[in-house]
Amino acid sequence: MKELGIVKLHEKLVNKEITSEELIKDALTKSHKLNDTCNAFVTIIDDAKEAEVTDNLLSGIPFGVKDNYSTKGILSTASSNTLKDYIPFFDATAVKNLKDAGAVAVNKTAMDEFGMGGTGTTAHTGIIHNPWDLNRSCAGSSSGSAASVAAGVYPYALGSDTGDSIRKPAAFCGVVGYKPTYGMISRFGLFPFASSLDTCGVLTRSVQDAAIVVDAMKGQDKKDATSWDSSDIHLYKSLNGDVLGKKVFYIKEIVDINNYPNASEELKMHLENFHKSLEILSSFGVQVDALSIDKELLNVIPSVYVCLSCAEATSNLSNMTGIIFGPRGEGDNIFDMMKDHRTKGFSPLIKRRFVIGSYILQKENQERYFVNAQRARRLIVDKFKSLFQKYDALILPVSTGPAPLLENENDQLNSDDTTLLEEHLQIGNFGGFPSITIPNGFINNLPVGINITGNCKDDANVLNIAYALEAKMNYKDMVVKDE
Ligand code: GLN
Repeated sequence: MKELGIVKLHEKLVNKEITSEELIKDALTKSHKLNDTCNAFVTIIDDAKEAEVTDNLLSGIPFGVKDNYSTKGILSTASSNTLKDYIPFFDATAVKNLKDAGAVAVNKTAMDEFGMGGTGTTAHTGIIHNPWDLNRSCAGSSSGSAASVAAGVYPYALGSDTGDSIRKPAAFCGVVGYKPTYGMISRFGLFPFASSLDTCGVLTRSVQDAAIVVDAMKGQDKKDATSWDSSDIHLYKSLNGDVLGKKVFYIKEIVDINNYPNASEELKMHLENFHKSLEILSSFGVQVDALSIDKELLNVIPSVYVCLSCAEATSNLSNMTGIIFGPRGEGDNIFDMMKDHRTKGFSPLIKRRFVIGSYILQKENQERYFVNAQRARRLIVDKFKSLFQKYDALILPVSTGPAPLLENENDQLNSDDTTLLEEHLQIGNFGGFPSITIPNGFINNLPVGINITGNCKDDANVLNIAYALEAKMNYKDMVVKDE
């Protein structure tokens, strides 16, 4: 039962082999069990009620919600002490759309505070552990969502992605992580981190499930001016696995083992495994080209991300004062109260980012850092947009290998030459490009992933390439076995 996808679950519900009530109860029991081992949730919604089974594929089926989505009447903390008692009075549009489809939210998943970070170690409820190996990180920030889908609590959980926060945890937990084109899903009710990069999306165990869920989440929304009408896009119906004649490229500078003179055995195996996946694509009649891209342009990706995301975060989170929502700080006047709230509430990682963001936004520094970072972003996006005129997708391995041990996790950029292997997914956020990670193998008994990114609004094409590749590998519907 654990590994069943949405279509199979729906069939069982329709045939009355199971009931929605049983599914919800089962997901709640599994949530409690997983919380004991992995600390994956901020809230388990014990009184979640079954829903009527209709002809909607999602009806009656449980799902998880990352804790930075507003959920009506349910604690929504973004894993931060600054919101530890915050209960919204409305649902995020994406959550509402799923509820309208008859889906049932059963928990709120733990995450890196406010989506900032990539380790799963900064949630106010503690470190989130990887169900494949409890000593390892899930990556982040959608850590609890990835862990719970990998553990088979339900077929899907919502994530959000500003730099890689859906796609990296998906790789480390052996699941699918899909970040659609920017604006396809409304961000209304998603706590902002860096609004020009933030994207709602989903973690699942198959490309098909990712298509089904995003079909239901998406849609233009008056409450998010960056959302657009995608009613002519039908992701699930467009999945046919026909990729003959498609063209994909990878970036030589990033995957050539000769560029890593000190490569670990793990990295060698990972890159070899990546090439095996490319061979599968070639065998389908997909043209796979190795392209060289100006290293100077590639090398600025991480710094552009730091500049823009920290600046936007500093501005966006300036409303976290403890006055409007969150616990009141102590003090004799409003300034001391706000200072106390923010000093006590935010983790060191967030504070560090606010220092960077404030510096960049200072009038005298804006041109040098903020404006230049925006210019560099434009150059990067233009480069990839021009490549997407000729190619259907960019394909690259996710990270330098499998999930690291928690004791080795930190939130600094890699200081060696592997930085780009870890950070290239940010290209997808700079351009708002659709991007999906699927599992493509195991290194030392731990899952690793491959990423496919394409042009804006070309989600169906990107998913189809992933769908074809997934069908030829043995990692679809994979769940962590109980010991
Ligand atoms: N890991 C990246 C960061 O630290 C990305 C986070 C995200 O996508 N939300 O900001």
